[in-house]
Amino acid sequence: MRLRPTLSWTPAEDLPPGTTDPAPVTDALRAGGVLVLSGAGLSTESGIPDYRGEGGSLSRHTPMTYQDFLASAGARRRYWARSHLGRRAFARALPNAGHRAVAAFGRHGLLSGVITQNVDGLHQAAGSEGVVELHGSLERVVCLSCGTFGPRGELAARLEAANPGFDPVAAGINPDGDADLTDEQVADFRVLPCTVCGGILKPDVVFFGENVPPQRVEHCRTLVREASALLVLGSSLTVMSGLRFVRQAARAGTPVLIVNRDPTRGDRHALTRVALPLGTALTTVADVLGVSVDGRKAA
Ligand SMILES: [Zn+2]
Repeated sequence: MRLRPTLSWTPAEDLPPGTTDPAPVTDALRAGGVLVLSGAGLSTESGIPDYRGEGGSLSRHTPMTYQDFLASAGARRRYWARSHLGRRAFARALPNAGHRAVAAFGRHGLLSGVITQNVDGLHQAAGSEGVVELHGSLERVVCLSCGTFGPRGELAARLEAANPGFDPVAAGINPDGDADLTDEQVADFRVLPCTVCGGILKPDVVFFGENVPPQRVEHCRTLVREASALLVLGSSLTVMSGLRFVRQAARAGTPVLIVNRDPTRGDRHALTRVALPLGTALTTVADVLGVSVDGRKAA
């Protein structure tokens, strides 16, 4: 399950249109045992742009591939400088109504699990528990030589100390935490090695061109097998890492429901696609179910 840097999926014209009626989602949640699969679209309302939606960042941003990262010290300097700056923006992002609704569904025992393609930690910040981070987390760092894991915050503090005065203005920020900086802006950035062995550090996220760890995939497959429905939130399902769980569910006859404003690569397999903003759709569903989101009294 390798992530591919080419993301040129175009929706077929004969796809069924989306609806504005979230009732099937409400019904599925009422029955319980729903597995959530979330993508970048869930975090756009927190100010983190999507790759592909309206104003998506892929139009101006090519994510770094694993192969590029390994190939040169220059690529790693560019990556760490941009990611170091981007993380500051992520640190300011707060969970939105969609994340809070998912956490509330979990508290009310309506979910069997949450798998996210996002690396921003906002599900957990909203209070969701046992979240499977399919593409890893920006908040962990791993050494490619000795395999030691460490907290990103610790590395960030070391990078701050090694790069006093590094405070360039970014042209934009991307869902992988990568800020848009020019080569000139990153030219003097100092990259730091592993404190244990001096090896190359990488964030514990799955880069494009890299495989999702097999044990993690297997765990997700088990979650899909055990779910009574799969609810996709804010993902175009363009990369296979998410799409194959939709296909697995569809093959097994497990209902797939999608909430995404634009058509997705999984629409053919779905019972319905609700084309509403995530926060609006999930708040409506929570109200109908009588689930209180963040102490807000449900209608
Ligand atoms: Zn090391």
